[in-house]
Amino acid sequence: MKITVLTLFPEIFANFLQTSIIKRAQNAGVVTIEVIDFREYATNKHKQVDDSAYGGGPGMVISVEPIHRALLSIDGFESANKVLLSPQGETFDQATAIKMASYEHLILIAGHYEGFDERVYAFVDSELSIGDYVLTGGELPAMVVIDAVTRLIPGALGKVESFEQDSFYNGLLDFPQYTRPYEYLGMKVPDVLLSGNHQEIEKWRQEEARKRTKNKRPDLLKKRQQND
Ligand code: SAM
Repeated sequence: MKITVLTLFPEIFANFLQTSIIKRAQNAGVVTIEVIDFREYATNKHKQVDDSAYGGGPGMVISVEPIHRALLSIDGFESANKVLLSPQGETFDQATAIKMASYEHLILIAGHYEGFDERVYAFVDSELSIGDYVLTGGELPAMVVIDAVTRLIPGALGKVESFEQDSFYNGLLDFPQYTRPYEYLGMKVPDVLLSGNHQEIEKWRQEEARKRTKNKRPDLLKKRQQND
């Protein structure tokens, strides 16, 4: 899979792309991540990509031209899935991440200031929000999407990790986990986990996952029942 990010702040991605699973997935050739500074596609001599809003008001608006020109510079731009990051988009969730992990080429466009000139919508396929709050820019949302999507691409996670048991993957929250020591300040690990009986352990985990979903996120259980 290939992921391209359009941003005005490419430096924000440097450490992120060189860390943990994202770094490993790139090194393994599972994903290629390219970051493009769309300021380079400004046509004026000061490389200005924003301007004041028609109709007045505070704040600057990102012009349509540098975004369009940056998109045109990307190999395979026509067939790629082009996603505008915006608090007004559909809310990102695990189901969307699973869908995106099957894309061949995902382009994420990160805004700043007051957002984009409305005409940018002519060149994108969808609009995506990471939640009902407003951030300064689309860089954190882009990293959220890249992280959630990359870990779902086959081969991105090592043998010891898995996403199938993660919260939300099958509509339930993850089951409780324990590691050494066996006892801490009187709190013990449930005996079943030391029983060596894999069937019993699996049964206990399923029950606990269901129980904690019911307690913490009853809305997920309801949704799961509706889909059954
Ligand atoms: N004026 C815009 C509005 O109210 O819809 C908000 C602009 S915001 C300050 C600047 C940029 O940050 C947006 O263009 C978008 O790319 C990004 N952004 C902010 N919050 C976001 C969110 N919740 N999800 C995705 N992107 C977000």
